[in-house]
Amino acid sequence: MAYTDVLVLGSGIAGLSFALKVAQKRPDLSICILTKANKNETNTKYAQGGIAAVMNTLTDTFDAHISDTLKSGKGFCDTGVVEMVVNKAPRRLLEMIEWGASFDKTPNGDWDLGLEGGHSQSRILHHKDKTGYEIERALLKKLEAYKNIYFFTHHFAIDLLVQNESCVGVKYYNKKLGMIENLYSGTIYLATGGSGQIFETTTNPVIATGDGVAMAHRAGAEVKDLHFIQFHPTALFLKKENPAFLISEAVRGAGAKLVNKAGARFVFDYHPAGELATRDVVSNAIFSELQKSGETCVYLDCTHLETEAFIAHFPTIKERCRQAGIDVFSDLIPVTPAAHYQCGGIAVNRNAQTSLKNLYANGECAHTGLHGANRLASNSLLEALVFAHEAAKEVINEKEIGEQKISLHPASESSMIPDTLPGDLAEYVKLKGRLQSLMQHYYLGKQGGTNRQVELKNKITTLAEEIEILYQIKDFHISLCELRNLATISLLIIKDAPSS
Ligand SMILES: Cc1cc2nc3c(=O)[nH]c(=O)nc-3n(C[C@H](O)[C@H](O)[C@H](O)COP(=O)(O)OP(=O)(O)OC[C@H]3O[C@@H](n4cnc5c(N)ncnc54)[C@H](O)[C@@H]3O)c2cc1C
Repeated sequence: MAYTDVLVLGSGIAGLSFALKVAQKRPDLSICILTKANKNETNTKYAQGGIAAVMNTLTDTFDAHISDTLKSGKGFCDTGVVEMVVNKAPRRLLEMIEWGASFDKTPNGDWDLGLEGGHSQSRILHHKDKTGYEIERALLKKLEAYKNIYFFTHHFAIDLLVQNESCVGVKYYNKKLGMIENLYSGTIYLATGGSGQIFETTTNPVIATGDGVAMAHRAGAEVKDLHFIQFHPTALFLKKENPAFLISEAVRGAGAKLVNKAGARFVFDYHPAGELATRDVVSNAIFSELQKSGETCVYLDCTHLETEAFIAHFPTIKERCRQAGIDVFSDLIPVTPAAHYQCGGIAVNRNAQTSLKNLYANGECAHTGLHGANRLASNSLLEALVFAHEAAKEVINEKEIGEQKISLHPASESSMIPDTLPGDLAEYVKLKGRLQSLMQHYYLGKQGGTNRQVELKNKITTLAEEIEILYQIKDFHISLCELRNLATISLLIIKDAPSS
């Protein structure tokens, strides 16, 4: 039987920071990290703006960060969790720096703290406009030194294994060998990220198909608040691009304005904080504006911003716009809201433990109580670091001496899976497109007030049933597994949502 002491699913900030901490303190434990793609293909890698933390107590206070988080969450945050995360943030950030991540400083050596929507102070640590890339790089580099960490890339987790109401492992597909196998463990830690791919327009990469939440739900773990989906106001509008490229909120923090086709600023008509209101407010203002005008996008105006500072802070954004034929210093950038973050997820306590024995969850797949109905900008990477620390403490202290055994391909539990016909894949791609379109219309209807919600809910339910039947009768295919997971999350979203 294939066994590891600690099994981590996912190699973003939540998975890697946890694995690192456990590896450092418990060299006797074998820690196995499974990822469905390359090591660094994660939402984490694409994070731009940065990590929120009170790093300068002369200009900022913990109370202010707490209050901003609670306001953004619209009454749905767990205040105790918000206080815990905000208070522990600076320590976790300093640790990230000790691990090798670099964050920008001003010429006089202070942290170059960015400002984002919903924050009453500049408090975002960042590495230019590619903070996530820097974090992922630093964590992967640091992990190389630990001999008790075993990486298995292109290993797709299909389902959790449950015995006597405890999670005991995972069933996964080894893409390299074309085999389905089981891996057992006494500690299973889900860090599988979000589910933005449910929607037609999203900033999330194609791996974000909600697998962890769907697996946990099937295994009987409690999931919570999945209807709280955050749409980011400013994704670059290029027709049919999925994922859509994000134009970080930090650009508005630096002074960029949102204008309509006529060149008029409009967000102040909806909220006194204008472009720096929280994401839900700005996205809804854009949706209303688009509904009124019948246009397909609004515009971000950076033409008045100082050229050198923009290039220094936002080189990736400038370059991506250039590739799309947009000169950010003379052209307006077409933008539209896009699905960005799953605020709900697998319910966990303050040690990241789920309701299912032996199962932990952290990062975007988890519901900790920090974000409420609308995550405050740059609180996500922070949440993952804080809860990884808490979960690791638990595992480090509680686990018995490890066995350090790893053998992933026992013949008795493996079965070769033949490739399915290309025709099947085309069908799954088509069904995914249909689901994405229905979910996009459902979400936009909720925002814009159209009255087709019941009809859309019925269509989504019927499609999800159709997908489940396919899953039961067809040969194994990763695209079908992902489609099934997207359908499961869609059902959880429409079930949870208050009826309009
Ligand atoms: C464009 C963009 C910009 C962002 N900017 C910011 C920002 O500035 N600040 C901020 O705080 N947040 C930001 N976010 C959100 C933040 O990046 C994510 O919430 C966070 O990185 C999630 O980390 P994670 O470790 O939970 O998951 P991820 O980083 O998404 O990692 C998920 C991992 O799970 C693995 N996985 C998934 N399913 C399976 C499966 N079935 N089997 C095996 N492995 C699986 C994947 O292979 C991957 O390794 C941004 C998000 C995006 C998309």
